Amino acid sequence: MPTLKLPDGSVRSVPPGTRPRDVAESIGKRLAQAAVAARVDGVVRDLDRELPDNGAGEVPFAILTDRDREALDVLRHSTAHIMARAVLRLFPGAQLAFGPATESGFYYDIDSPTPIREDDLPRIEEEMRKIIQEAEPFERFERTTPEARALVSDLGQGYKVEHIDDKFLGEPSLSFYRQGEFIDLCRGPHIPNAGKVGAFKLLSIAGAYWKNDATRKQLQRLYGTAFFSKKDLDAYLTQLEEAKKRDHRVLGKQLKLFTISPLVGSGLILWMPKGATVRGILEGFIKDELLKRGYEPVYTPHIGRLELYRTSGHFPYYRDAQFPPMYANPAASALDLAQHRLAAGVLDEKKEQEMAAFMKATGLDVWAYDSFGTQEEKLGAVNQYVLGVIEVMNLDVPDYAQAKTHAERAAVLLKWLEQQEGFLLKPMNCPHHIHIYKAEARSYRDLPVRLAEFGTVYRYEQTGELNGMTRVRGFTQDDAHLFVTPEQVEAELKSNLDLVLFVLKSLGLNDYRVRVGLRDPNSDKYVGAAELWDNAQRTLIETVQNLGLKHTIEEGEAAFYGPKIDFVVRDCIGREWQLGTVQLDYNLPVRFNLEYVGPDNRPHRPVMIHRAPFGSMERFCGILIEHFAGAFPLWLAPEQARVFPISDKYAEYGKKVEAELRQAGFRVTGDYRADNVKYKIREASVEKVPYMLIVGEKEQSAGTVSVRDRALGEGKEAELGAMPVAELIRRLTDEVKEKRIRQTSGAVAAAVEGGEKFAD
Ligand SMILES: [Zn+2]
Ligand SMILES: [Zn+2]
Repeated sequence: MPTLKLPDGSVRSVPPGTRPRDVAESIGKRLAQAAVAARVDGVVRDLDRELPDNGAGEVPFAILTDRDREALDVLRHSTAHIMARAVLRLFPGAQLAFGPATESGFYYDIDSPTPIREDDLPRIEEEMRKIIQEAEPFERFERTTPEARALVSDLGQGYKVEHIDDKFLGEPSLSFYRQGEFIDLCRGPHIPNAGKVGAFKLLSIAGAYWKNDATRKQLQRLYGTAFFSKKDLDAYLTQLEEAKKRDHRVLGKQLKLFTISPLVGSGLILWMPKGATVRGILEGFIKDELLKRGYEPVYTPHIGRLELYRTSGHFPYYRDAQFPPMYANPAASALDLAQHRLAAGVLDEKKEQEMAAFMKATGLDVWAYDSFGTQEEKLGAVNQYVLGVIEVMNLDVPDYAQAKTHAERAAVLLKWLEQQEGFLLKPMNCPHHIHIYKAEARSYRDLPVRLAEFGTVYRYEQTGELNGMTRVRGFTQDDAHLFVTPEQVEAELKSNLDLVLFVLKSLGLNDYRVRVGLRDPNSDKYVGAAELWDNAQRTLIETVQNLGLKHTIEEGEAAFYGPKIDFVVRDCIGREWQLGTVQLDYNLPVRFNLEYVGPDNRPHRPVMIHRAPFGSMERFCGILIEHFAGAFPLWLAPEQARVFPISDKYAEYGKKVEAELRQAGFRVTGDYRADNVKYKIREASVEKVPYMLIVGEKEQSAGTVSVRDRALGEGKEAELGAMPVAELIRRLTDEVKEKRIRQTSGAVAAAVEGGEKFAD
């Protein structure tokens, strides 16, 4: 008999065959009405599906309503079914591929004999509305796998047949969901009936490959979103509109903050003078704070020896995410890839294609590598290739020819490679900082040692993953490594969190939470003793609780060497951004044999804390551009004020005002072109210049300027009137000193309110 443990801690036993709906009804009519699905032992299940009877023990159980994020995912996936049903009615013969819920909605990949166009979307929406109106139930049923295969085949759904053949032939049975005439192979869960869909919208159509494989058929991906209420949908659509206006890639170009050149390389940010100014101010601000908190600055180079990263474990462990290693001996580069292949076996399809292209390019592709089918054939070809390189380059790789298995060959090659001088573009700063720690004998009196650097690192992100400043191939972390005694861990964590909170507040990012990532107690992928982990995890949780921070605790989210804290910030239009992390590390101190001399005069092992609270300057600035919609607060604005003489006659006075402000430390320019002032003000407003200073006869004779504050608006309301230059300087000085945040618009506030519901 299943025994359920409810969220309030109460326990109830229910007879076999009970459905979550029955439990909801026994609790209350309102709950049963609001119920969407249930979470049973961590798994979301249908409201009308019988509870599993796993015998002994209490099973955690919760009814999910429109207030739960998981229920929203169920709703959205169900809306994907409804969309597919509508499409099949309007586009007979269409075939369905995959249709999951996503972070912000859902999609379905569809192969229609008549291609679906954007202007078909209203028609599909209309059909969906009819389906929702009828509020038919989603009914789950199961078939044995052969029956299931026959069913999808009868339904004319070839992609589903292929999917079963690929993935599920070993399963005894498969589940389907039926809604009216529409039947779909699906794991579920689903909402009880279509009437639960409060509001939805189809958003766009894009191309997508079957199984995301570029060598296979291109399908159409129909995107949409759905919510429990119209209000939530409206808030989301407002947010989308706002996000479009704030896109840092667009604003970055418009405001001349940064650029990316294909010739320099995709994912490599070129900071233009204005962007560099913003970044420089931010870096200066953080540096000042670090000095106050006992950090010491260091600088380290952009590359390091492969040996260094072999010691740290970053190479070859993360090699797929790194730029290829640089060897002094060109033969080593060729053999490095082959060694990797022999050691790892055949990799994914994309990497296999790269390997084939590489072997072709070297002219050693006499074995037609890419036409081989089996793993053994491919590895055999790699082996032939290695023998070819060794012969052509006349290399001395002892024992290679005698090695019998691919693993042995890989081991022999590795030994040879390890003797070759090689370098890696720095993927992480830690190993470099560790060697600064190691450069001196350390005593417990020296600890904590806090080494900080805006350290630039490189990762080889796939081209398709790159995105403006937020996904790049080279970035500068606001990095620091702390070497502390075990007793100092808690205080240092607290001080780190303090620092992040202070900086977030300074930037008006007041809505945030932290995520505490713990190890998965059932996994053995973590290094270090259990009691060290327990201790570290407890410390992290207590620190977060003591600071009164909004937080979530997530098992399985730790790094393999220690638990961590992530910051998740919500920007002013309600989107969440993950910033950097604070991580506790017991592993690298062991790998690098770090020590300090304790009060007992014996060597002890320090603990490391890695922290880069903003992740990277690139990403952080990208987020700030979107958060402020390019209109930075005065202290960050690359151009703080612009002077406009109303005619040539007052240019001289304008230049004098400009010089006075510059003398007072402000970033100011003047516009002395012949165009009319109204036009020039408009331009400055588009360029998000906070203060516009107009000078003419009146101002010149009184020694004043007429001031417009962009934050107040675009029309007359922006006029602050004439004020003496000294008064203006006082005003600007105060605003900078207080790091005052300028305005946010009404639409934005509304979007935030709408987004609030699923905050936790
Ligand atoms: Zn489904
Ligand atoms: Zn680190």
